[in-house]
Amino acid sequence: MAGDAQRSQQRPIIHAVKGTRDILPDEVAAWHRIEAAAREVFARYGYREIRTPIFEQTELFARGIGAETDIVSKEMYTFADRDGSSLTLRPEATAGIVRAVIEHNLWNADPALRVFAMGPMFRRERPQKGRYRQFHQVNVEVFGVSHPAVDAEVIEMALAYLRACGLGEDYDLLLNSVGDAQCRPAYVETLRAALRPQASRMCADCQRRIETNPLRVLDCKVPEDQPIIDALPKIADHLCADCRAHFDAVKQTLELLGIGYRLSHRLVRGLDYYTRTTFEIGSGRLGAQNAVLGGGRYDGLVKDLGGPDLTGIGFALGMERLLMLLPEPAVPSRCDVFLAALVPAAMDKALKLQSELRSRGARVLIDYEGKGLKAQMRRADKLGARFVVMLGEAEMQSRAWKVRDMSASAQEDVDEGRVVEHLVSRLDRRG
Ligand code: ATP
Ligand code: MG
Repeated sequence: MAGDAQRSQQRPIIHAVKGTRDILPDEVAAWHRIEAAAREVFARYGYREIRTPIFEQTELFARGIGAETDIVSKEMYTFADRDGSSLTLRPEATAGIVRAVIEHNLWNADPALRVFAMGPMFRRERPQKGRYRQFHQVNVEVFGVSHPAVDAEVIEMALAYLRACGLGEDYDLLLNSVGDAQCRPAYVETLRAALRPQASRMCADCQRRIETNPLRVLDCKVPEDQPIIDALPKIADHLCADCRAHFDAVKQTLELLGIGYRLSHRLVRGLDYYTRTTFEIGSGRLGAQNAVLGGGRYDGLVKDLGGPDLTGIGFALGMERLLMLLPEPAVPSRCDVFLAALVPAAMDKALKLQSELRSRGARVLIDYEGKGLKAQMRRADKLGARFVVMLGEAEMQSRAWKVRDMSASAQEDVDEGRVVEHLVSRLDRRG
C-alpha cells in the first residue's frame, strides 16, 4: 500500500493546454458581474441573448471571415470529424450568429433584430498578457437597420456597458468609415498605387498585403513601417456621397448624445463585407494588447453567407481584457449560517437544521469533521458566515441553540423549535 501511494505521488501532473486559463472560484464573482451587466444593459436597448454552438463547419468561417485573414489562414483550430467533414472551433461569434439568423429566418419575426451572445472563442495565437488561445467575448449584433442612428446607438451601448462594469471614463473611442462596394475598390487601388513604390522598405507581411489586401497594411504594427503608413492617402477623403452622408450622420448623432470620439483613418477591417462605420474602444492601461472591443458595419455578410440582403452592425468585446481594467471585487461571503456541531450527538440535529434552512433559501455549511469550537469559529469567519449556530452538550440539554451574530458579536439562545424562523427572518431583514 505504501508503495502504491508513493507511486501515485510520482505520477506527472497534467497541465492546462498552453494559452488556456482556469477561471478559479475566487475569480468567478468578477465574471458574474460583467455577465450580469451585459444582460441588464443590453435588455435596455432591446437585445435578447442567442447561444450558438462552439464548433461549426470550417467553410462557414472560411467564407464568413475571409480566407486571406490571419484568423482563417493561421489561427483556427480545425479538425476532421470521424466522417471526414472539416470542423472548426469558433474563432469569433458573428459568422455563427449570422448562420443561425439565416437558418431560422429570425429577421422575419423581427425586422430590427438585436441579439447578443457571450462565450469562449478559440484562436491559435502566441499567448501573452491579454492574448490567449481560449478567450471569451461578449458579442452584439443588429440586423436589418441601416439608419446611421443605430451605429451611434451600438457605440453608446458599448460605453454604457463599460460604465456599468465599473470602467469609468478611462477609455479611448476610435472611429472611422471604410466605405462600401461603390467607393472602396477605387480607394484600395489608390492605396496600392501609393504603396508599391514603398514596398521594398516595408515588412514582409505588408509586402504581401499590398497585393492581396492593401487595407490590412493600415493595421500593421511594425515600428519601421509607421511613417510610411501615416503618409498614405486617407479613406475619409475617398468616400462616395452616400458613405460620407452616413458617416457624417453617425458623427452628428454621437455629438448629439454627448459621446466623444477620435477619428482614426487606420481603423479598417480588411474584409470585403465590412462597410462604412468601424470603431474600437481601447485603454492605454492594457499595454500592447490595448483593444477592449472592436466593431463595425458588415452590410454584405448576411448575403455572402446565403441569406437575404440584410444589413448588420455589431461589436465583439474581450472579456479577459475588460476584467484586466476593472478593480477586483471583494471575495463575497459564501455562507449565511454556519452550524457548529460540538458533540457527536448534535450532528443529527445539525443535519436536519441544515436541510431545513437550505430549503428556505439560506446558504448553510456544517463542519463534518467535528473540530473544536475555536477551529469551527475560525472556519465560519473565513467563509464570511453571518450567523453561527452552536449545538453543544449544554444546548442539547436545554433544547435551545446558541445563535451568534458574527457582525454584532452578540449571541442569544433560541428555542430549537423557533430557530429556523428566527434565522430566516433575520436573514431576510438583511435585505
Ligand atoms: P487584436 O488586435 O487585439 O488581435 P482583433 O482585431 O483580433 O484584436 P477581434 O477579432 O475584433 O480582435 O475581437 C474583439 C476583441 O476580442 C478584441 O478587441 C480583444 O479584446 C479580444 N480578443 C481578440 N483576440 C483575443 C485573444 N487571443 N485573447 C484575448 N482576447 C482577445
Ligand atoms: Mg487578433
